[in-house]
Amino acid sequence: MQIYIHVPFCRTRCRYCAFHSLALGKRSSASSLVRQYVDTLLLELALWGDRLGRQPVSTVFFGGGTPSILPVSVIAALIARIRRYFKLEKGAEITLEGNPESLLERNYLPDLLGAGVNRISVGIQSLHTPHLKLLGRIHSARDAIHAVMAARAAGAQNLSLDLMWGLPGQGVRQWLTMLKEVLQLRPEHLSLYALTLEPGTPLEEDWQHGTVELPAERDQALMYVEGAALLESAGYIHYEISNFARMGFQCRHNLGYWEGAEYLGLGPSATSTLRGRRWTNSAVSLEWAAAVKNGATDEAAETLTLQARVLELIMLRLRTSRGLRVKAYRDLTGRDFLRDHKALIHALHERGLIRIRNGYLRFTRSGMLVSNSILSKFFADTEAKFLETGRGSRGAVESL
Ligand code: SF4
Repeated sequence: MQIYIHVPFCRTRCRYCAFHSLALGKRSSASSLVRQYVDTLLLELALWGDRLGRQPVSTVFFGGGTPSILPVSVIAALIARIRRYFKLEKGAEITLEGNPESLLERNYLPDLLGAGVNRISVGIQSLHTPHLKLLGRIHSARDAIHAVMAARAAGAQNLSLDLMWGLPGQGVRQWLTMLKEVLQLRPEHLSLYALTLEPGTPLEEDWQHGTVELPAERDQALMYVEGAALLESAGYIHYEISNFARMGFQCRHNLGYWEGAEYLGLGPSATSTLRGRRWTNSAVSLEWAAAVKNGATDEAAETLTLQARVLELIMLRLRTSRGLRVKAYRDLTGRDFLRDHKALIHALHERGLIRIRNGYLRFTRSGMLVSNSILSKFFADTEAKFLETGRGSRGAVESL
């Protein structure tokens, strides 16, 4: 099993962000708001620890939000609580997402590693200061570099860096030059995300008002394709649409998620999938806290239907460079994936967007670039087959 802990606090809100988080502003990270959150989280861990009974845990991921906003003593207490209630496997991957400004606080990084965190994911986003300002990031490019160097000096051996491409005013050459600078920091892992203009965010409003403009589509495609080629030539494995790693440094937590592992999500808005059931905690802290007190965070859990499991199998496996094992589809549905989606697969193959080899169907790099649109076609195709049957999940297995 894997554990995800959602930390719903940030120092300020970035201008592109639609994640669930609350800006603490000048409030201390030891404010009563944070203390209440931590108390509830410890309770939630105890609740699930008692219910699940010392389950083996292979990965822990502190995500957010900005987990590095929490004092290290809190992270250490949470890890100790996990050790007490679960069987944290030897060599378990323990990741914490952090932003440069908080990671650079005095002794934060050495203490964090001392607390047991062995993978740090640093949100640097860009090394171009005007872009950082445009995004509403509160750190500078220099802070980002210092944070990575400080993490190394503290003994970090598994660093992941988050970067964004497709930013307003960004050119292909500028992006590639920045990637080369980042490579000099020798991260074990890199996540490259395309900027998505989320409705209602300040950056999206700027775009609506015409005060910022995104790079041309062709340039965005070049950023992705040439960026990926650059990282591959530097020895990184492109193992998922947005993720690259040196051999042996793929994120085990995310790989587990993409490969259908069970996970327990703790904290407001966190999702869990355990024993065929799925639930999402309330994003409203007070509601989440009340549900934890009543031991009822999973009250509205849904049993995953066959249709949901099939869609998820397709979506998650196709995100990885290994792709969808056709046999996994057969094991789940009793059906042949290539036959069920024959026309779509043929059209995608003709356009060089997918490849089929050794029993796996996978995206080519051009396919990864338009993965959302391909996935929605597979979804529509699959849903149509379920609708055609007009029957329950068992019937769907027989006639999908
Ligand atoms: S730090 Fe991350 S989670 Fe927080 S506002 Fe910025 S992008 Fe969103």
